[in-house]
Amino acid sequence: MTDTTTPAPPAEYTVPQERRVVTEIPGPKSRALHARREAVVAAGVSSALPVYIARANGAVLEDVDGNRFLDLGAGIGVTTVGHTQPEVVAAATAALGSLTHGMATITPYESYVQVAELLAQHTPGDFPKKSLLVNSGAEAVENAVKIARKATGRRAVAALEHAYHGRTNLTMAMTFKAMPYSAGFGPFAPDVYHAPGSYPFRDGLSGADAAARTILYLEKHIGASDLACLVVEPIQGEGGFMVPADGYLPALQRWCNDNGVVFVADEIQTGMARTGAYYASEHFGLVPDVVLTAKGIAGGLPLAAVTGRAEIMDAAHPGGLGGTFGGNPVACAAAVAVFEQIEARGLLAEARRIDATFRPLLEQLRAKHDVVGEVRGIGAMLAIELVEPGTRDTSRTPHATAVPAIIAHAAQQGVLLLSAGTYGNVLRFLPSLAVTDAHLEDTARIIDDALAAL
Ligand SMILES: *Cc1c(COP(=O)(O)O)cnc(C)c1O
Repeated sequence: MTDTTTPAPPAEYTVPQERRVVTEIPGPKSRALHARREAVVAAGVSSALPVYIARANGAVLEDVDGNRFLDLGAGIGVTTVGHTQPEVVAAATAALGSLTHGMATITPYESYVQVAELLAQHTPGDFPKKSLLVNSGAEAVENAVKIARKATGRRAVAALEHAYHGRTNLTMAMTFKAMPYSAGFGPFAPDVYHAPGSYPFRDGLSGADAAARTILYLEKHIGASDLACLVVEPIQGEGGFMVPADGYLPALQRWCNDNGVVFVADEIQTGMARTGAYYASEHFGLVPDVVLTAKGIAGGLPLAAVTGRAEIMDAAHPGGLGGTFGGNPVACAAAVAVFEQIEARGLLAEARRIDATFRPLLEQLRAKHDVVGEVRGIGAMLAIELVEPGTRDTSRTPHATAVPAIIAHAAQQGVLLLSAGTYGNVLRFLPSLAVTDAHLEDTARIIDDALAAL
């Protein structure tokens, strides 16, 4: 793990780094745009907060009515380096003017190779690695499964309960929650299984006991000899930021290694400095065979990667992997700049700073409000799980209505918060690493008010 304690240099922000509410939310221009949208955009593409963004910079979004929102979601952990981060924008702009599309499977270009080199260097594990670049997280998951099946000659794919892996046909089957992700969209890809995972707040199991339960399912229900891969988010994202119990993930990895099962870490949400390490696997001593990267890799441009042991990745024959836009040169140039910015601005340390500032504030909320069941997460990936009043020490009944109420309250104050969780009762925080301590203190105050008003 690389680290630097160099403080971030002062940045010139093109949008003032403060929340500001100047109209009702959504404002009149947003409402007019929304009416246009409803006429022509498919209803399935919902909008959690229909304010229309005109520009964004650092940790702040500015809408078409001039309202400014402190962004605690960063486009679901995408703009980890900050919105329109200047060096990333400059690198992408330069690439745009020199090579907009190269078609890596016909005539290659250097930036694709650079991204693969950086991934080989920064993903966990000290062995030869190779990468494939694609356009989206779901496409990375699809390719990891495809490669694992070719490498092992086996059919079955295991994911965990509460997992989220995407919305394509195969990844819908791998995602745990039916509504809204897969309900009515079947039939689904066969040979996909959900094993029980580790959710300490709800199952109370030690890492060893939770792993034994997972392994029992894999061995008895699927059979190790038929299992191509186990795909795991080291900290589950959409599922609710569950940090597995100590020892859980290493036990699964040992079992996979012993049984010839490809261990795939879906680090699409947890990767790229989000948790204070390049990859969250590092916190658990995990060395996956294959690591998936997407969301934060290119500062907002679409890019995703499958990186794995060279012998596994090379199991796919020439021509077996690829796609028209995969590894687009503009996105690759942005990704190279993101890796540079992680070093230059000490962003691993910034993620740890966010943890050090925000976690105690969330713990104060837990001490004060009995509906806050648990504070969890690592680095700039933190969450609170809400339970019905009076149930925190008993049934821990999920409090699903609290989360939309808090999100709505915060939106009116100019703070964008995101929900998560199989039960919809988790507030997740994954700000850009440009968020300041003052922003986090301000956010905690607003959540405190919202909790008091429940
Ligand atoms: C977002 C996400 C995906 C899917 O990525 P898309 O780019 O939306 O296809 C897969 N896995 C995890 C853990 C994610 O957070």
